Amino acid sequence: MEMIEMLRIAAAGMLLCCIILLCYSLVPSAGLKYLWKRNSRKRWLEGRTDKRLYLTFDDGPSREYTGQLLCLLKQYRIRASFFVVAEFARENPDLIEWMMEEGHLVGMHSVQHKNALLRGRNFIREDFTQSMKTMEGMGCKAEYYRPPWGHLNLWTLFFVRYWNLKLILWDVMAEDWSAKETAASIERKLLRRVFPGAVICLHDGRGAAGAPGRTLEALGSSIPALLEQGYVFERMDAYEYESV
Ligand SMILES: [Zn+2]
Repeated sequence: MEMIEMLRIAAAGMLLCCIILLCYSLVPSAGLKYLWKRNSRKRWLEGRTDKRLYLTFDDGPSREYTGQLLCLLKQYRIRASFFVVAEFARENPDLIEWMMEEGHLVGMHSVQHKNALLRGRNFIREDFTQSMKTMEGMGCKAEYYRPPWGHLNLWTLFFVRYWNLKLILWDVMAEDWSAKETAASIERKLLRRVFPGAVICLHDGRGAAGAPGRTLEALGSSIPALLEQGYVFERMDAYEYESV
C-alpha cells in the first residue's frame, strides 16, 4: 500500500475516533454543564429563587480537614451536602457517621475519583455499584451523584437513571483546589460569584497541598458575610431539581 493511502486511512481513523469521543462523552459533559447553569440563571432572572445557597463539598472525607469543616458548619447551624469519594469514605467511616449525625446530606462522587471521559460500560457500572454498596453499608441512602470534574459519558447517564439518582452539578466554584488560590482570593470569588439559588462547589479533600485548609479559612469569613447579606444555606434535597 502506498504511503499516502496509509496516511489517509490513519487520518480517517483518527477523525472517526474524535467524532465518537465527542458524541460519547465530550458533548454530554459540556452540554449538561451548560444546561445546569442556564437553568439556574433562568430561575434567578425570572425571580423564582429566594436567597438560598447550597453549599456542597467534594473529594472528601479527609482526616485532616473534614472534621474542622463539620465544626465550622455547626457553629453557624448550616447543613450542607457532601459528595464523597467511596474509597475515602471506607477509610473514614466515623466522618461519614459524623456528617449524618449533624444532618448533612451525603451523596456519591465515584469510588476513586477517576475521569469517566474515556471509560466504558463495565467501569461505570462497577463505579456506581461499588459506590452504592459503600454508601448503603454506612447507612446512607444514596440519591445524589456528582461526577468527578463534571465529566461523564452516555453510560453515566444510563446508570444515573437506572439507579434513580439525581445528577448534581454546580453554579459557583472558587477554584479552591488550586495552589494559586489564597483564602482571600477564594473568599473574593465566592462573594462575587454567588446569586440567589446558586449551588456552590468547594472541596474538603484532595487538591493542591493544604488547599482544603484555605477553603476552610475562606469559609470562616465568607459564611458570616453571606449570612449578613440575607442568604440562608440549604441541603441539595431542598433544591428545586430539574432533570437536565
Ligand atoms: Zn471531585
